[in-house]
Amino acid sequence: MSAVLLSGKQLAKTIKQKAQHEARDLEADGLRPTLAVVVATDDGSTHWYVRSIEGTAESAGISCRIVDLGPDATGQVLALVLKDLSEDSSVNGIILQTPLPPGVGTDEMVGHIAPEKDVDGVNPLSLGRLAVGQPSFAPATARAVIEILDHFHIPLAGRNVVVIGRSAVVGKPLSLLLLERDAAVTVCHSRSGPLEKYTKTADVVVVAAGRTGLLNGGHVSSGAIVIDVGTNVLPDGSLVGDVDAGSVRGIAAALTPVPGGVGSVTTSLLLLHTTEAAREQLRALVPGLAG
Ligand code: NAP
Repeated sequence: MSAVLLSGKQLAKTIKQKAQHEARDLEADGLRPTLAVVVATDDGSTHWYVRSIEGTAESAGISCRIVDLGPDATGQVLALVLKDLSEDSSVNGIILQTPLPPGVGTDEMVGHIAPEKDVDGVNPLSLGRLAVGQPSFAPATARAVIEILDHFHIPLAGRNVVVIGRSAVVGKPLSLLLLERDAAVTVCHSRSGPLEKYTKTADVVVVAAGRTGLLNGGHVSSGAIVIDVGTNVLPDGSLVGDVDAGSVRGIAAALTPVPGGVGSVTTSLLLLHTTEAAREQLRALVPGLAG
């Protein structure tokens, strides 16, 4: 039996339509939602991704302001730009694309994004709020995983879920979101030992490590749901995940594809978060107008 393919395309479309609808409502209230994307690299795949966000945003009625500082930008300039955008009332959401120039620390830079505009939930304040259940934007990729599981009616309460990867943008926030949904969560990383020790008994395995072929059919049990967050560009330019899809497909019950899985939902969620941020900012400015 071959695993069911959990495509994110329909869900991504639905979320984008919701963002588009919200953007139209905001425009009727006099505000065109605007997302600022700050880039400081000449990495081709990052620029490709930024152009794809721009295209999707514009087609949803959300303006996208690309702030390209180039690969030689200093931490000082980057910090100033992020602070300026945070104070700019014509900007509703801010994303900082990585990689950053050598020597510029991501952890320090993300702290300059105002939490109310932090639509990718990268500011430590956003993660802290998420940890204690206070309102904040969850990182879009982590939320995308939950949205996909919900979309396909995969239960989480009381389920044994293994997350591979513990980064501040994917693994950690995802484990918090899963805990909030009453899953029993195990987080694996590069020092946790053989993966199969944890993954063999998992109901759901989420892989977010950035390592091609990290999870194979020998790691999972039949009936497992496998969510592949990884995005790895092969020398021939093609995109693959962290899962050896060929071997996992024959064992697991379901698997997300790469591309066309988590990534497509992530972009739509960034847009939805931008409209949500804009709505909150309008509400704060004009309480009566913004419903
Ligand atoms: P990251 O910061 O490099 O973190 C990778 C994590 O994987 C680390 O916690 C690392 O462990 C763990 N890891 C690495 N090798 C491992 C191994 N052999 N066994 C077990 N764990 C291992 O990466 P990230 O930013 O979280 O991104 C992870 C992947 O998701 C990347 O492929 C990235 O491109 C992709 N991604 C996709 C989307 C999307 O929308 N689809 C969005 C964001 C990221 P240590 O902590 O011990 O080093």
